[in-house]
Parts: sequence; structure tokens; C-alpha cells
Amino acid sequence: MHQLKEYEKFLFILDGTLHTIFEREKEYLCCKEGCSLCCEQGEYPISDLEFEYLMYGFKTLDEDLQKKINKTIEEIKNSDERLHICPFLVNKKCSLYKYRPIICRTFGVISENKYGKLTIPFCRKEGLNYSKVFDSERKMISSELVAKYNYSKEPTAYNLNNENIMNLDIARDLNLSFGEIRKMKDQL
Ligand code: SF4
Ligand code: SF4
Repeated sequence: MHQLKEYEKFLFILDGTLHTIFEREKEYLCCKEGCSLCCEQGEYPISDLEFEYLMYGFKTLDEDLQKKINKTIEEIKNSDERLHICPFLVNKKCSLYKYRPIICRTFGVISENKYGKLTIPFCRKEGLNYSKVFDSERKMISSELVAKYNYSKEPTAYNLNNENIMNLDIARDLNLSFGEIRKMKDQL
């Protein structure tokens, strides 16, 4: 329980930083309530600590909702599909928004993965984040398109991979131990 309280402090600080980043990138973002594509097809890597916090939130849900989610969890566990809906997505909304993992907080902006490779949200293919400035032939963000659409600045990439975030000084200061990062399906 002590770890979870410390983790909440960490999330408070992280959310503040992410808010600044998402504000900076807002010209390129289409995220809004009701858009849930990124919760419908994924692996959702999550550490032991994040999963413990998610389950802590799960216990606060009413019984009917818990049953509904548990049914989806069973379906996911019985399926061989690598990508799956997140079981906590109910009626296109996150039922555990306050408790959601780090990847759900960071997803949406251009980010560097742990190998230093830039990842642009897949929803660009659906006409969403960064789609107007993504050159699908060259598979990169195009400065020409940035200029064409009169954006005030070029998009920026942020080092928001899970490993980097979990190694921030603040995580060390709070003595957080995240444990192993695994696919959500393997944590369920
Ligand atoms: S990241 Fe993409 S799919 Fe997810 S909410 Fe934002 S616009 Fe929608
Ligand atoms: S925990 Fe919530 S935000 Fe994260 S993938 Fe699941 S439904 Fe989406």
C-alpha cells in the first residue's frame, strides 16, 4: 500500500509534465473523449507496480462492472490474438482512467522507443494524430506538409518510453520498484 501511495505522487508529477507536452503538441492531436481506437487493438505493456495500481482501482468498481470486465478478461485469455481490446474499456470509455498505466498516459505524441527509434501514433493512419503532416510514401513527418498547413512549429519527439519514465530521478527519490514490464495479457 505504501508503494501505491508513493506511486500516486509519482503519477501526479508525471501527469503535470505530460500535460505540458500535450499542450505543446496540441495542433497535431485529435484525442478527445469517445476516441478509443488506441484502447481497442494493443498489447498494453505494463509493469507489476502499474498493474497492482490498476487492480487497486478495479476493486473500487461496482460489482456488475467488475463482472463485465472479468468476462472480457476471460475472452482475452482464451484467445490466441496478439493484439486485443483492453478489458477496462467499457462503452468506449476507460473504466479505470485514474488508475490507467503509464503507456495510456503517454500515448498520442511522437515518442522515442527504447532503441531510439521514433514512433508516431498508429492512429495517424485513421486521419488522427499527426496524419496531416505524415508523408506515408516516405514514412516520415514532412516539413513541407507542416508548412503547407501553416502549423506554428514542427512537431517534437519526446523520450516517453516506459523504461525511461520508470528510471526518472523522481521514481528513485520515491523508492519505487516497478518490477517486470509485461504485456497486459500476461499480467491479467
Ligand atoms: S491517440 Fe489516437 S486513437 Fe488514441 S485517443 Fe488520441 S486520437 Fe484517438
Ligand atoms: S487502461 Fe484505460 S486508457 Fe489504458 S488501454 Fe485500457 S481502457 Fe485504454
